[in-house]
Amino acid sequence: MTQTTRPSVGRVALVGAGPGDPELITVKGARLLREADVVIYDNLVGGGILDFTSPTAERIFVGKMAGNHTLPQEDICQLLVDKALAGKFVVRLKGGDPFVFGRGGEELDVLMAAGIHVEIVPGVTAALGAAASFGFPLTHRDHAQSCVFVTGHLKDDSINLNWPALAQPNQTIVIYMGITGLEIISSNLQAAGLPGNTPAALIHRATWPTQAIYPCQLATLAETARENKVKPPALIVIGSVMQLLKNDRAAASSPTEIQ
Ligand code: SAH
Repeated sequence: MTQTTRPSVGRVALVGAGPGDPELITVKGARLLREADVVIYDNLVGGGILDFTSPTAERIFVGKMAGNHTLPQEDICQLLVDKALAGKFVVRLKGGDPFVFGRGGEELDVLMAAGIHVEIVPGVTAALGAAASFGFPLTHRDHAQSCVFVTGHLKDDSINLNWPALAQPNQTIVIYMGITGLEIISSNLQAAGLPGNTPAALIHRATWPTQAIYPCQLATLAETARENKVKPPALIVIGSVMQLLKNDRAAASSPTEIQ
């Protein structure tokens, strides 16, 4: 929990909703949702999670609408500040964990600068949800001694990752927001020395009822995404731990598609 040092006005909780399955929110997150006057949430918050909110709470969606852009980050921050200064208890609900590629840090800074009391409740990040739901470990004594989470988000049409550092043996790579950059990711990792036959998978909406996994290899990531029309939100997982994928377990995890 983080607190401002000045006397605080208003109160905001940045709460991780987890990867989708509503039962994966923390007990604390669910309690704060029940107590909130205002809940501000976006796309990645799983169906059913808003059922934890009070019927009288104001719910504000700030995610992407079909064909529209997300509300700009500054406007979201301003909304949080305005609601909190109006005396409301605001829950800012974010998919996964607020501090893993979630812009939680930016919102925290703005809120603290406005003298607002902020608390942070972690959530199960998508990588952990995917590993649990499809039954593969992220680390394993025989396969991976490290696991890295990176963003594959394209900025100025390039992905600025440290390819040699990623292409290490005995490491699991989980790439968030990388679906549009698969060709670049695959070719750069191979150029940096990771074999093209390294096991990999694309995982769409892990822990949601529509979750799907597409096991493949590093060299076939892009064509696998194309053939299966894999769209965001999806993770790319690369590393020999994917050999341990329990397909039967994945099949058992309900409407899952196994390729
Ligand atoms: N804060 C979030 C990440 C937000 S960035 C977290 O901790 O999980 C958004 C990206 O997260 C998506 O583009 C996708 O790559 C990934 N993501 C989020 N939820 C996912 C899910 N249920 N299954 C697969 N990928 C997911």
